[in-house]
Amino acid sequence: MEIIRIPKVMQDTVGGLLIRGRTIGFVPTMGALHEGHLSLVRRSREENEKTVVSIFVNPLQFGPSEDFARYPRDIEGDVEKLEAERVDILFMPEASLMYPVGFSTRVEVGTISETMCGACRPGHFAGVATVVAKLFHIVKPTRAYFGQKDFQQAVVIRRMVKDLNMDVEIVVCPTVREKDGLAMSSRNMYLSGEQRPAAAVLFRSLKGTAESLASGIIQIGEVRHVLRQKILSEPAVSSVDYAGAYDPETLEELAEPKGEILLACAVWIGSTRLIDNILINIKKER
Ligand code: AMP
Repeated sequence: MEIIRIPKVMQDTVGGLLIRGRTIGFVPTMGALHEGHLSLVRRSREENEKTVVSIFVNPLQFGPSEDFARYPRDIEGDVEKLEAERVDILFMPEASLMYPVGFSTRVEVGTISETMCGACRPGHFAGVATVVAKLFHIVKPTRAYFGQKDFQQAVVIRRMVKDLNMDVEIVVCPTVREKDGLAMSSRNMYLSGEQRPAAAVLFRSLKGTAESLASGIIQIGEVRHVLRQKILSEPAVSSVDYAGAYDPETLEELAEPKGEILLACAVWIGSTRLIDNILINIKKER
């Protein structure tokens, strides 16, 4: 696996691959890699001739009181995992090369960035869209792979790609979970021994609410309350940023049932913020 740290070198290297007509699959990450990330890498390897993974903890997408400084980093372990997956190129730029002095451009994706996580983390999705736009220009992928776990992020990226005529196919892959249903996340490392089993409450509550909705026990307008109560029944939960039923395209909270429904939540367990979601189709589930 080739490790590249300089954006211009990365651009020149993919330039050479593209001249030779190679398809390039790209998996952007913030490192501390787990099976969720590796599922995207495997999908990329299946569908493209070359696979590029980036590891970059993007300062632009963290708020001033968020966990940028303590975000888990494990470069040695990550390199080992990516070597084992036979990744072609690891792009690992320094922040000073991504955001040199004077950097002042932002990619802002409208209303879909303002609900759900966007409402709780102002500026977060502008940080995400800006870095992903830069990475797309540097890596020039044929396809880029994102996880459903970060559903809103995938919607924002799709919108950006469409709005700015970016020539890249966005592929969204299923959420990989631990045995008890907890969505894999680098942030799960923050959880203490007692908090870790409690964190399964997110998925359990999403599933329970989906079942009640599908069987007609609750109506769509009750989802917000029911999901929140289920999550708060776990004593380790400190607070719920949001929990509800959303339109998977517009991300607006749903007042009326629709074909596909996104059930999503963001929850604090101590000082760790976790997110999860499931997509349901009430007609199919019935
Ligand atoms: P991150 O390193 O957290 O920025 O995540 C990098 C990519 O991996 C994003 O597209 C995430 O949605 C995806 N990802 C993270 N966790 C999972 C998971 N449990 N299952 C599938 N994809 C994931």
